[in-house]
Amino acid sequence: MMIGERIQQARKASGLSLRVLAEKTGVTAMAISKYENNQSTPSSGVLLALSNALRVRTEYFFRQVSVELKEVEYRKHSKLPKKVLAQIEGNVLEQIERYLTLEEILPVSPIQAFELPKSLPAKITDYDEIERLANLLRKEWKLGQNPILDLTGTLEERGIKVFQAEALHDGKFDGLACRVNGAPIIVVGINWPGDRQRFTLAHELGHLILNGRLSAELLENEEKLAHRFAGAFLAPASEVLKELGSQRSWFEPRELCVLKKAYGLSMSAWLRRAQDLSIINDATYLKMVKLFRKYGWHKQEPCDEYPREEPQVFTQLVFHALAEDLVSESKAAELMGKSLREFRALRKVDHARSAINQ
Ligand SMILES: [Zn+2]
Repeated sequence: MMIGERIQQARKASGLSLRVLAEKTGVTAMAISKYENNQSTPSSGVLLALSNALRVRTEYFFRQVSVELKEVEYRKHSKLPKKVLAQIEGNVLEQIERYLTLEEILPVSPIQAFELPKSLPAKITDYDEIERLANLLRKEWKLGQNPILDLTGTLEERGIKVFQAEALHDGKFDGLACRVNGAPIIVVGINWPGDRQRFTLAHELGHLILNGRLSAELLENEEKLAHRFAGAFLAPASEVLKELGSQRSWFEPRELCVLKKAYGLSMSAWLRRAQDLSIINDATYLKMVKLFRKYGWHKQEPCDEYPREEPQVFTQLVFHALAEDLVSESKAAELMGKSLREFRALRKVDHARSAINQ
């Protein structure tokens, strides 16, 4: 990839038009357009101005790794304008490039390549099979039946890369799943509460698993099935029955708060689980949904927010590489997407603590 494409990619990732970038840098839009088309080469001064305005390091423009997102699947894609999608994809690409650069530096990756268990059924023909599928995956991944405390770590350990991107466009971006060089990647909105991030992660995992297994009749319901999978994976049917009982006529909201805290599954999703498993009938479900709407709980749930998920593997690997002298401090900072000063603050664990206390 030449420098022109890199400039354009960074510009799209930042969501800036040629005109706005020109204003921010004092370089004309015409000149920037020429750089992007490799018709002229920017001076180092111009590159510095571009890197400041686009919030990337100048090394970014010279990076050799180039990747392409394949089989991109969005949650709620229909509501997002093309420009926002390009911005999200650009942002994700940049993160993935740093990850792949790091993987090339590390002689042996401690993370296994992603592979789905062979024992999963080849075809899914009805909704109830989703419950069995989720259970089977839990069994193969040795997760037991308990709540999954660190879902991001659980996925990362098994070779699914998890990234975070800003919940752009009035928070309409929940997440996306895609493949890069055949490896699965899930991206979640960074600003969502933890339970929503976890549902997105599990939903996208559902797509990964359902892909190629759905019968022709079910194919058009893939979204619903991915939702069902997410609920079933986060709160297995056997546990839901234990927690709620097999027949209910109503739930106290506080009861759902407690369960949300234990499982990292939203109160609304618990209601849906209760309906899916016929613990409440449709009329009760609708009455409860109405109650949630009345108090605005369908947008913001009462009780404590569930803590956010945080990908850890990448940071761990960067410091591993630094500790073993595989990268310089400056390269490590670049990989983390931080300035050297920010990186040094992160590196010094004592100082990091005092910085938090300030
Ligand atoms: Zn989906």
